[in-house]
Amino acid sequence: MKHLIDIKALSAEKITALFAQAQQFNQTPIKETRKLHQGRSAIALFFENSTRTLTSFQLACQRLGIDITALNIEHSSTQKGETLCDTLLTLNAMQTDLFIVRHQQNNIQQEMSSWLNNETSIINAGDGTNQHPTQGLLDLYTIWQYKQDFSTLKVAIIGDIKHSRVANSLMDGLNTMNVGEISLFAPDELIPSKTKHLKASDMNTCVKDADVVVMLRIQKERLPEDLNVDFAQWHEHYGLTNERLKLAKPEAIVMHPGPMNRGIEISDEVADGSQSVIWQQVRNGVLMRQALIHKILS
Ligand code: ASP
Repeated sequence: MKHLIDIKALSAEKITALFAQAQQFNQTPIKETRKLHQGRSAIALFFENSTRTLTSFQLACQRLGIDITALNIEHSSTQKGETLCDTLLTLNAMQTDLFIVRHQQNNIQQEMSSWLNNETSIINAGDGTNQHPTQGLLDLYTIWQYKQDFSTLKVAIIGDIKHSRVANSLMDGLNTMNVGEISLFAPDELIPSKTKHLKASDMNTCVKDADVVVMLRIQKERLPEDLNVDFAQWHEHYGLTNERLKLAKPEAIVMHPGPMNRGIEISDEVADGSQSVIWQQVRNGVLMRQALIHKILS
């Protein structure tokens, strides 16, 4: 594997192999994994804000012995008018092994890989509303840890699905893993018009008997200005509360990619409750990114 730009490029076998590698890293002392890729280097280029993804990539690289530098975009020559292509070629001339790129423009990482003649690896850390493949992988890994068999699962996804690269990568990955059923719920304006998955008529139907409930943030930065959605009423209609969660299977898990807007898409009691695996997702993010980078650089 040279790049990871879209989760659809990964087969079920490849994804399962990444689960196994992440499990192995979980059991290996960091002082051992640090020896694996000594002397290699990576550059993180984040044109959008990030807490989890950037830090998690940094830790994943460090735990594999890779030197990672995160370019501070606000203080970079991008602000002086340098093109993205020239920025990339400049950094590439410094002989790096891997770029980790987040950008507001859909599909930009694909284009960037062609500027590099496919020589240096690129991992997509999120492109606009399109894909967030490493989030998809860590979400699949988390579901697998708790549920093992995807084919019998009902996964409910609720929130701003239309603008969510997290939902896209997760749905694509779940399809690859042959998931039982995906049920979606959002206001009509925030659900993709073309989807092969079931659009639930209301939140209760969506959550009912679910094995996994995934809550999403409203992607305010990506919404059209004329959107006719009453956000003040969001929690009442689309928020996950303990009462609604009771409709899911008793052993259902609750997921959220973060950042959470507590009291909007998810209540405190659910976010901090016994069915929430949100911190486990974060923990798995480092392990899964370690597994992926190890695969790409090996
Ligand atoms: N952190 C995720 C992303 O970058 C989800 C979100 O921002 O709501 O897409």
